[in-house]
Amino acid sequence: MSQQRRALIAGNWKMNQGTSAGRELAKAIVAGASKAPNADLVVSPPFTILAAVASDLAGSPVELSAQNMHEKSGGAFTGEVSAEMLKDCGCKWVILGHSERRQYFAETDASVASKTSSALAAELRPIVCIGETLEEREAGKTLEVVGRQLAAFEAIIAKQPGVAAIAYEPVWAIGTGKVATTEQAQEVHAAIRSQLAKVSQQLADVTRVLYGGSVKPDNAEALLGCADIDGALVGGASLKAEDFLAIAAAAR
Ligand code: PEP
Repeated sequence: MSQQRRALIAGNWKMNQGTSAGRELAKAIVAGASKAPNADLVVSPPFTILAAVASDLAGSPVELSAQNMHEKSGGAFTGEVSAEMLKDCGCKWVILGHSERRQYFAETDASVASKTSSALAAELRPIVCIGETLEEREAGKTLEVVGRQLAAFEAIIAKQPGVAAIAYEPVWAIGTGKVATTEQAQEVHAAIRSQLAKVSQQLADVTRVLYGGSVKPDNAEALLGCADIDGALVGGASLKAEDFLAIAAAAR
């Protein structure tokens, strides 16, 4: 991790946690946040409890994120939620282009780019996810795939350097317990940073690139110790306050 980029540890609760379990989890994270003095903490509950969790986070350093949004600011889009609505209920961040959205909800590089642009316009900070499938890795296409996904939104995030974060999440490592080795992760993170540097050196210097994929307390220190890994997007382990905080405490 670089001295100039403070660690960002974001928990993606996915489609888990009703009101009482979610609020309890949020409160436990707030109570333990001082155990992670070197990290910015973000939690991403489901839409239904964003407002309730916002009130539990109020006055704490823990920030609120949503897991998705629609690119339009309003209108006839039944079932959807806009960036403005997320801001209105207390979100500072939004996860975009998660591989589960790309895989199950047909999100494309173009739709992720368009959502990134709308989020930034609404002053919502995107955490944009990219990553290769196992098939793509085995075919030697990792850097090509990640490069293509990044190319779709790099010029958009370059307009406000440091506001967006990127999460590199190898799809084969998400929820599988198969974590990328530090060498595999660092190689891709370095490639992401050099691609950002081609857009602007400032963008490369200030953009936090998080690793995601089976991050746990026992592998966090090694991953966060890599030069180009600036934090973590955590799924399963973010549902236990103790584990989430232990991961965040590993940031130096
Ligand atoms: C994720 O969903 O973004 C994720 C990284 O999940 P997990 O930590 O469970 O692999």
